[in-house]
Amino acid sequence: MSKLQVQVSKQPKMHSSVNKPTDRLNRPLRDLRISVTDRCNFRCIYCMPKSLFGPDHAFLERAQILSFEEIERAVNVFAQLGVTKIRITGGEPLIRKDLRILIEKIHSVKGIDDISLTTNGALLNEKKAKSLIDAGLNRITLSLDALEDECFKKINDVQFSVAKVLEAVEIAKQAGLSPVKVNMVVINHVNVNQILPMVEYFRNRNVILRFIEFMDVGTTNKWQYEKVFDARSIIGLIQKHYAIEPVDANYKGEVAKRWRYKDGAGEIGIIASVTQPFCTSCHRARLSAEGKLYTCLFASGGYNLRDLLRKENNNRQVLEIISRLWQQRDDRYSQLRGESQSSQQKVEMSYIGG
Ligand code: SAM
Ligand code: SF4
Ligand code: SF4
Repeated sequence: MSKLQVQVSKQPKMHSSVNKPTDRLNRPLRDLRISVTDRCNFRCIYCMPKSLFGPDHAFLERAQILSFEEIERAVNVFAQLGVTKIRITGGEPLIRKDLRILIEKIHSVKGIDDISLTTNGALLNEKKAKSLIDAGLNRITLSLDALEDECFKKINDVQFSVAKVLEAVEIAKQAGLSPVKVNMVVINHVNVNQILPMVEYFRNRNVILRFIEFMDVGTTNKWQYEKVFDARSIIGLIQKHYAIEPVDANYKGEVAKRWRYKDGAGEIGIIASVTQPFCTSCHRARLSAEGKLYTCLFASGGYNLRDLLRKENNNRQVLEIISRLWQQRDDRYSQLRGESQSSQQKVEMSYIGG
């Protein structure tokens, strides 16, 4: 995907009655992921390695980041274009002060019926969980890559303990955000031996554990294909110990492939974006903390929506530009992985959000 630019000569092609654009591969726009900060209190080796995100790293300044009002305005426009689901992410989204105010604002936007949050859980406590739910948060995903402290600390690289994340999972459940999802990024020779302990721990706990293939997002995480422990191997490993069977997707375009334990102990999910790409049903746009709009996680450039929002008071103009951008979209990076795009500069995960 090259840098996003609007071809102004082209007229917006809308669905006749509802004004909802589709892209060049006939995919509608349904989900928006919003990164509310590029900062994080972890330094996960696969996302923000200390060597590149050290004490001198230049994070975005306050004025460069979208305000809650600007995000709300953008969400309003996206909702008119067909977005119903919002995921708040980062960096670490709970670092952003007063996040509940943003959730309240998004919750009040007509057409938005699902608001979720992805977090490492470090800053979650009962009071915060309750206030986020009161504001309109529907779902939460916590990230945890290992059950053993030594392995997890090696990955988060800030000595953060497993127990605190497990506590956050319980807090989220008790607060009513059930079922809670837990994301585990699986990296060959790093945490493959944690798959079974994680399975064992989260079975029967009303938590959906989701295994994510290590992705080549950005350029700083030294991704190599050999580091991917693929979906087939994950399932194969689990099947040696537990009887599981596939389950139909909840809805078209669901990213995680669902499996359930035959003994009724719950569900797991696999996000196999490397070995089983799901670009054909990708209905997702991403907004970075500084307001760049990306139509693919692996994009090399985004459209500067912040500048547009700051200079253009007319939402109709903003809507038409986003609509055109979506109509020009032909991203399918994961399907093309390994071919021509492999060497391009890509945006970092901590910047664009997961
Ligand atoms: N800080 C929050 C967290 O960790 O949950 C939210 C942002 S994080 C970028 C969102 C998700 O992306 C996390 O579950 C993380 O594990 C995942 N992630 C980050 N880098 C990844 C990579 N290279 N491959 C696969 N998943 C990745
Ligand atoms: Fe931070 Fe999440 Fe990236 Fe880890 S995965 S460094 S917690 S943004
Ligand atoms: Fe969507 Fe891009 Fe991922 Fe394909 S590679 S599923 S288009 S974000």
